[in-house]
Amino acid sequence: MERTVQIQAPLPHIKSVNVWLLGGDPLTLVDTGPRSDEAVTALEDGLRREGLRIEDIEQVIPTHHHLDHTGLIATIVARSGARVAALDRAAEYGAHYVERSDADRSFSRELMRHHGVPESVIESGEGLWDYIRDGSEPYRADVVLSDGDVIAAGGRNLRIVARPGHSTTDALLVDEGSATAFVGDHLLAGISSNAEIVPVAEPTGSRPQARVQYLESLKRTASMPLGLLLTGHGDAVSDHRRLVRRRFAEHRRRCQRIVAVLDEGPAQAYGIAKHLWSARTVAEQPLLVVWEVLGHLDLLLDDGPVSEHILDDGSRYGKAWFRLREQDERPDAIPNGKVPRTSTLYPGGDRPAAFE
Ligand SMILES: [Zn+2]
Repeated sequence: MERTVQIQAPLPHIKSVNVWLLGGDPLTLVDTGPRSDEAVTALEDGLRREGLRIEDIEQVIPTHHHLDHTGLIATIVARSGARVAALDRAAEYGAHYVERSDADRSFSRELMRHHGVPESVIESGEGLWDYIRDGSEPYRADVVLSDGDVIAAGGRNLRIVARPGHSTTDALLVDEGSATAFVGDHLLAGISSNAEIVPVAEPTGSRPQARVQYLESLKRTASMPLGLLLTGHGDAVSDHRRLVRRRFAEHRRRCQRIVAVLDEGPAQAYGIAKHLWSARTVAEQPLLVVWEVLGHLDLLLDDGPVSEHILDDGSRYGKAWFRLREQDERPDAIPNGKVPRTSTLYPGGDRPAAFE
């Protein structure tokens, strides 16, 4: 197999993002780094060490639409004429990057409002969305791939495998010959991936269950015969099954902590977050903590121990069948009073009695 070279582009908050150079025909980059002068310099330096320039790149494939993975696509295309290949949903997002990120921004404001984040905190979090909008720019995919398609890249064939959850556009790029996959942010060695809640097409108006979908995706990845996962940030992963088991255990622990908070009485998602993180974290990263709590509440709603009351002024969560007022005693007044589905949290069926 041709060479695979890791180039790290600097990124605020989480240090760096991995750009993967796939030597061989066609000369390919998997992910690009954010749209910043520092990232361009890091990319140029990394390529120079291989005797290459940005102008030599022939193909770019993003693992998903996030700015740190797509931010330099337009710059690279302008300088090299490289073609862009992307999973259909990442292609769609890229074609309308500004409109889509604006829609995500307004959806997120509503989401935070509904789940108890004060207006002043929502306002102070607007900088994140400016960063997301400015950290990338629209890109056009010359090759739009469907789930399961195979594409030639850097002297090998890569199968594109949709794995929504961390984002709606996540994909693995799998080299089946060497059991190696480029996985973006689907599974990271050092940290648990977040699962963003954004307005994908939801005709019912209900919020997407991103965390539930993420764990389903992780389970499918764990069943794949892979030897090496090259990630979007930090180190590669060589024992993905063990890491997935660890991530599931972490999810179960966090769910148990949330149930313990709800033992004290019903609460909104942002209120629950205040029990799980420092005052500074919940004030500075309101959207991330709301995603995190809601994602775990969705797991608990599916598993049965928690129910949700959707009221005009927002959603309240409590232990299953909790009652806010007398009139809520009618079963049809309990919006999420549904029969628990198959457990996502306990895929092996080893659900402890505390969750029954
Ligand atoms: Zn990402």
